[in-house]
Amino acid sequence: MELYSTDINNLIDELAALPGIGARSAQRMAFHIINLPHDRVKRLSTAIINAKEHVCYCKECLTMTDSEICPVCSNEKRDHSVIMVVENPRDMIAYEKTGKYQGVYHVLHGVISPINGVTPSDIRLKELIERLKGDVEELIIATNSTLEGETTAMYISKLVKPSGIKVTRIASGVPVGGDLEYIDEVTLLRALDGRVEI
Ligand code: ZN
Repeated sequence: MELYSTDINNLIDELAALPGIGARSAQRMAFHIINLPHDRVKRLSTAIINAKEHVCYCKECLTMTDSEICPVCSNEKRDHSVIMVVENPRDMIAYEKTGKYQGVYHVLHGVISPINGVTPSDIRLKELIERLKGDVEELIIATNSTLEGETTAMYISKLVKPSGIKVTRIASGVPVGGDLEYIDEVTLLRALDGRVEI
């Protein structure tokens, strides 16, 4: 016997499919949404559709943005010869919030993970190698210190080393298994300052 109507079940299923949302939270959110005034629900659904339709990937660093080139890449005051490689746009924003990093970024949109079937060609490495043909002095690898993050760092290092570009890895002040976006700015800066050549 179905406990809820099809529409409520569909909403719960869609919400439960989002990352970090379990069945109970999905249920709670679904009923919260249903009880909201009509205009609030409309604003929520419009925000989702607009974000999906207007947000694109920056042509240079591949972060999510609403213009062809993101504000960081289009800023001439930034040092375009230093590229920090991050796993996702959230990690990039974490470093941007510190306000101290002057280089630019490259967003991989994932990490190499053989166990999950993610190979080097599944992340945005090809675009990174293409960028390195330009005037690049240092590549800072700031993937998380998880097994996948370390594997990806080593892979990139081996790939880039022959080109003679300096490859560094952020210091291990970042706790193992820690997600960059949850780490405070002081730790992030310490990790950046203490980076070592690999
Ligand atoms: Zn960009």
